[in-house]
Amino acid sequence: MSRVMIHPAGYDKIGEAVQRAFELFPVPIAGRKVLIKPNVLRVSEAREAIVTHPALLRAVVEKIHSLSAASIVVGDNPGMFSYGANEESFKTTGLMEASCGLYKNIGLDSVKIDFDPAFMPAVSVSRAVMEADVVISLPKFKTHGLTVMSGAVKNSYGYLPGAQKAMLHKAAGSPERFHELIVEVYRLRVPDLFIMDAVVGMEGNGPASIDLRDIGLVIASDNGVAMDAVVATLMGCDPARLGFLKKAREVGLGDYDLGSIEIIGELKPIANFKLPPLGGEATSNNPHVQQLIESRAVLRPQADPQLCTGCATCVEQCPVSALTMVDALPVVDAGVCISCFCCQEMCPEKAMALK
Ligand code: SF4
Ligand code: SF4
Repeated sequence: MSRVMIHPAGYDKIGEAVQRAFELFPVPIAGRKVLIKPNVLRVSEAREAIVTHPALLRAVVEKIHSLSAASIVVGDNPGMFSYGANEESFKTTGLMEASCGLYKNIGLDSVKIDFDPAFMPAVSVSRAVMEADVVISLPKFKTHGLTVMSGAVKNSYGYLPGAQKAMLHKAAGSPERFHELIVEVYRLRVPDLFIMDAVVGMEGNGPASIDLRDIGLVIASDNGVAMDAVVATLMGCDPARLGFLKKAREVGLGDYDLGSIEIIGELKPIANFKLPPLGGEATSNNPHVQQLIESRAVLRPQADPQLCTGCATCVEQCPVSALTMVDALPVVDAGVCISCFCCQEMCPEKAMALK
């Protein structure tokens, strides 16, 4: 039986809830490589509640530090609005400071992994994810226009650097298929522990809505499917109506049936919580969102001849050798490029732009 902790918390004393989570779910840490993955959707400020709050990240970093990990990395790959802005996203949200010097741009190094060919034959996944002994996921309590909620399972979508996220969005084609897609990405590396920031949550049409809600909780579990079932219930949504939870159960990743979950704390649905439409219509019927996905999926880097010094750093660092120097300027092979945007992030002259 899976267990889910629901613990009252505020950002000023969140350490107590984090401590309790580690007591209930004692993941072996000593001597192991740990990746801590907050939800860093985009460049924003902590008060907007679009990302995991820095107070939770700091408390988890301090806790892991005290458990003698061999190494600790804090990292994520931001979404569509912040491709190529990994560091900036961490800085503006306050997550860089909360990382206590352990932040790493995990988008700069990836490994190619076979994937469900119905979406894409292979994907590039941050090496830090695949090589960690322990992955700790720190999702945010938020709604999502396409998947209704963005919780434990959806947080793993950030395993993928750059515009692969938009490409896969496009390849999925429908909300139903997108539900399946996020499970496929999640199962590339199922995290070992989940600690969710549900102190201030988001309702309405997330994942970047302005409708915030004081919830006052930290939720934790060692099973992401069980955690998301509890979160859906708190949001007033029957977990059985969520395609990604059905898919996750089908492939043996956990159960969303509340009868199979031990709740440690009080599970009380939030009164009048505003959910997006359950069929994903908020996103799939919105021409602006569709246009945005389309435009982000076709982005490729292009060097600015006024700024480029021809140092070839980008050519050397491109993980798939998609760049070659032509007349002292790097030129991308659009068919080979996986749109990870490492070249943009690594360019010392800020000469690479997304076109
Ligand atoms: S790293 Fe920047 S400056 Fe160097 S070749 Fe590439 S685009 Fe030009
Ligand atoms: S050219 Fe290479 S480094 Fe740049 S975005 Fe494409 S795959 Fe990534």
